[in-house]
Amino acid sequence: MKITAIKTAATSGHGMHLWVRVETDEGISGIGECVHGGVQAIAIIHEIRHHLIGRDPFRIDALFEEVRRSHVFDGGFAGALITALTGIELALWDLKGKAMRAPVYELLGGKFRDKIRVYADCQVDPGMDLSEVKQVVDGVLERGFTALKIDVDGGDPHKDPFNYTASEREQDQMLQLIDMTVSAAGKDIAVAADVHTRLDMPSAIRLAKACEHYQLMWLEEPVPPENIDAMREITRSTTTPICAGENLYLRHGFRDLITRQAVDVIMPDIPKCGGLSECRKIANLAEIYYIPFAPHNVASPIGTMASCHVCATVPNFLVIEFHWLQRDYWSTIITDKEDIIKHGYITPSDRPGIGLELDETVARQYQYPGTTWFE
Ligand SMILES: [Mg+2]
Repeated sequence: MKITAIKTAATSGHGMHLWVRVETDEGISGIGECVHGGVQAIAIIHEIRHHLIGRDPFRIDALFEEVRRSHVFDGGFAGALITALTGIELALWDLKGKAMRAPVYELLGGKFRDKIRVYADCQVDPGMDLSEVKQVVDGVLERGFTALKIDVDGGDPHKDPFNYTASEREQDQMLQLIDMTVSAAGKDIAVAADVHTRLDMPSAIRLAKACEHYQLMWLEEPVPPENIDAMREITRSTTTPICAGENLYLRHGFRDLITRQAVDVIMPDIPKCGGLSECRKIANLAEIYYIPFAPHNVASPIGTMASCHVCATVPNFLVIEFHWLQRDYWSTIITDKEDIIKHGYITPSDRPGIGLELDETVARQYQYPGTTWFE
């Protein structure tokens, strides 16, 4: 079997969902998705596909590494080039699964678990009172989720945008949002809080310590993950679990975070940071440090299902994100209209490949402006 074409399409999703279809001379094709590569990822795929036409699509890891290493001066360590390659990687796994008539999780070593726990990313904001927060939490509970995440940063409009010291007012607002959410959630639902790297060291330590009695599932990226010493200092200073990694790439990007035990939880974004093989390796590295794996996820059902094939095959999987609570785009753009999330869990598809197909007629209604459609 030889690769004959690699084509892209893009829809407006969380920023942009970039679709990749790999076609072969035997008529079998695979669909992949990548996120947060920007429009430049399209141009990158159109450039790197010339390396892959005529090649054996089953040699997924070798093709990935060959293209990456031949582009080390053009972004082969991190960023859009890795994300573009990731979209191709997902499509190659889908294609290989279809060709071998096996679901991707079987090709990755088989399942540790049959159901993948999902947490809901929720929108609460500092202007809400307890009854409004409770309404959001009840909506999550009604759908059967056992975990949720709230954003707590950005509550002080008068703040100097370049200085990340939290004012007393901002700290109070963050704690109040956490307090309202935890009390609305009760014992039935785990709560994580995200500050999107927007604190400095003293503010991060102060917040993490003040959160301790809420027993959060985690506090996410109190500071950027680029300074391992700083992240480790925060993690060591508190019993609140610290989680990071949604903007890191490849196992190289996670190595120090994991081996220096600078975080309590890691959250690679699988359809962004290197794909299924790479994230399985990241999870396996984290596992020998007893660090749980909780992927960040803003992908469509296809990228999410691909991620769930990885989550099924690693021992230390904790929970994966769902980012589409308030938007109906989610279930409409795949051919199965049924929501893949049932009672807060996703069952990895037993069909060959990733197990879901794009409904192009519907998806095209969301075509990203200025992009081509599977060209
Ligand atoms: Mg985050």
